[in-house]
Amino acid sequence: MNGKPSDFACAWDFVAVAAVVLVLCAGLVFCRKSPPSPAAPADFKDFVDRTISAEKADAWLRYFTAEPHVASSPRNNELARYIKEKWEEFGLEDVTLATYDVLLSFPKTISIELVSPRRVHLEIREKGYDEDPETKSPDVGTPYNAYSRSGDITAPLVYANGGNPQDYDLLEKSGIDLKGKIALVRYSSPYSYRGFKALTAEKRGLAGLLVYSDPREDGEARGPVFPDGPWGPLSHIQRGGIPYDFIYPGDPLTPEWASKPDARRLSPEEAETLPKIISVPLSAENARPLLESLDDEIAPPEWQGSLPITYRLSGSEAKVRMQVEMEDPIRTITNVTGRLKGVESPEEVVLVGNHRDAWVYGGHDPSSGTACLMELARALGEAKKNGFQPRRTIILASWDAEEFTLTGSTEWGEDNKSWLGESLVAYLNVDSSASGRNFSVQGVPSLIPLIHQALKEVEDPIEKRPVYEVWKAGITTDEGKKEEGRVEPIGSGSDHAVFLQHIGAPALDMSFAGDYGVYHSVYDNYYWMSHFGDPGMRYTAALAKIWAHMIIDLACRPVLPLDWEGYSGELQTYVAGWAEKHDPEKKKSAKLLALLQKMKETAMPLRPYLLDAARAAALEPDIRQSVNKRLIGLEREFTDPTGTPNRPWYKHLVFGARYTYAVLLLPALTEASEAADEKAEVTALQKLEKSAAAAIARLEQITSFLGKEK
Ligand SMILES: [Zn+2]
Repeated sequence: MNGKPSDFACAWDFVAVAAVVLVLCAGLVFCRKSPPSPAAPADFKDFVDRTISAEKADAWLRYFTAEPHVASSPRNNELARYIKEKWEEFGLEDVTLATYDVLLSFPKTISIELVSPRRVHLEIREKGYDEDPETKSPDVGTPYNAYSRSGDITAPLVYANGGNPQDYDLLEKSGIDLKGKIALVRYSSPYSYRGFKALTAEKRGLAGLLVYSDPREDGEARGPVFPDGPWGPLSHIQRGGIPYDFIYPGDPLTPEWASKPDARRLSPEEAETLPKIISVPLSAENARPLLESLDDEIAPPEWQGSLPITYRLSGSEAKVRMQVEMEDPIRTITNVTGRLKGVESPEEVVLVGNHRDAWVYGGHDPSSGTACLMELARALGEAKKNGFQPRRTIILASWDAEEFTLTGSTEWGEDNKSWLGESLVAYLNVDSSASGRNFSVQGVPSLIPLIHQALKEVEDPIEKRPVYEVWKAGITTDEGKKEEGRVEPIGSGSDHAVFLQHIGAPALDMSFAGDYGVYHSVYDNYYWMSHFGDPGMRYTAALAKIWAHMIIDLACRPVLPLDWEGYSGELQTYVAGWAEKHDPEKKKSAKLLALLQKMKETAMPLRPYLLDAARAAALEPDIRQSVNKRLIGLEREFTDPTGTPNRPWYKHLVFGARYTYAVLLLPALTEASEAADEKAEVTALQKLEKSAAAAIARLEQITSFLGKEK
């Protein structure tokens, strides 16, 4: 009953075969070098569009969500071997299981009890529903916060809204002492990463942290709840890691280097990213008696959630006991990689990936993305069998242990950074494919034309017009605002982090988004996906096509489709945005802004080659190679080997992440200005100026190569 999609024997209809023959003929006509030679990419876009199937994506989803598959579990390891077997069958080359031995974190005992003014033992378990027997499975583990500290504490309780610094400020202003207490906080309001809440509580001297999901944010206040709707029922619990991966992601014991069996390891005490606080996630149902036990000052209106009670700041008698016993073993995790080798420039690599490990069944996060990756792999494999020969190498990756601290991708990136630094054209991430119909993407500006192109070529499965048109028409937000689709700046939060922020390669992360109230809970499963997230997996199939189109363009275009004119323009906007706050007369930023203008102008002659493949193909191969080699290094000009101050792992000078996970533009500069550290500000500006000058020099080399052609 697993619906194992084991037999994907392909049955081409006559039209498809005829089209392939035509494509191959066309390929021979267009190609200047022969053989082997890349065929015209546009033709293989049609081929993959016909190959990618929503039904097959659904069968993959069923298989991958059949059982819980947390990192290092037997099931997740079995899925790694299964992917390897399938990718080999599809015709991918060098399919490899790359393992790392990393610090993970699992619960042995978790017990939370209200001890006063009355005794209530909280049942930290989500409710099972007859409609969806998987919610009743005994294999569903106890919800927990990975990397919580162990301990047994009994302490007074306070309610601290979102657990952000300003919330604790308000409590202290109300005369509430925080030392040694247990804070109950809710996930959003405004959103911040749970690890940030843990660090904030730790810094404020609290002894314990309880993080719950209020129905106002992702439950019944938003709409119908599971199993009748996409929002979270009262018992749903958001599991998740709380490591301080805004300092560095990956194995906490091996920052900057790979967790090979014989690798040097920090002691847990030395690892800056391991929390020193006890933390447990709760449901709204669990939180209710705790909130009811508070009887002092009423919390401000913005702090009121939507449970039918009055939310208060503290209680005269409210006391909670937290007993948490964790085990933090070193376990082996497994990434799967496979490739389609490039025929002209095999050393240039386009990398794409999704994580495989899930907190429970992982319906949306990540198995919808895994289903998308499998359809992509199958379509590219079929294309290869039918003559597709990319100019550059395409590598597909199934990452492990993303949920812990972006572990699998980070270790692999650190392991391979020397050659990735020279060869990585771009990394395209799909963490989860679809929880609705609204296309959403974060990425670096050089990829914007590539993104637009793919969106213009792929049809929205319900609207029956290009995804681009639907995306540009925009969506109406909860606040009633109309928001046009745009490529958002990229931060952290998934497997792109190491490639963008540590190695300095262009990156993006994309999905189709919608109402999603079951994140990291047992209800994020096949039932949820097939009823609410993406019934029939049509948007997942559309995303696989968008992904494939981007890959084909990146791997086949004679000149890499990376737009530095556009990037310069975005950079000007970011710097102007910073100047508005910190340099209104533009005295400090004048030099940088002038350099960026020059960078933009220097990049202009390149534009025709990005847009016109025939013109780019007419370049002599050695000129093309020189141009591409320099284009690959451009993003890395905007990295600093010494990293962001206090966070040396994060090397990108333009894109960073705040501790809350919010995007942080110009991280070193912005943080310096926010801390009013003038010396650091000058240094950060100088580094950006140096980067811009180096990028200009590189672009000048490129245009001089292009000039030779004329
Ligand atoms: Zn994920």
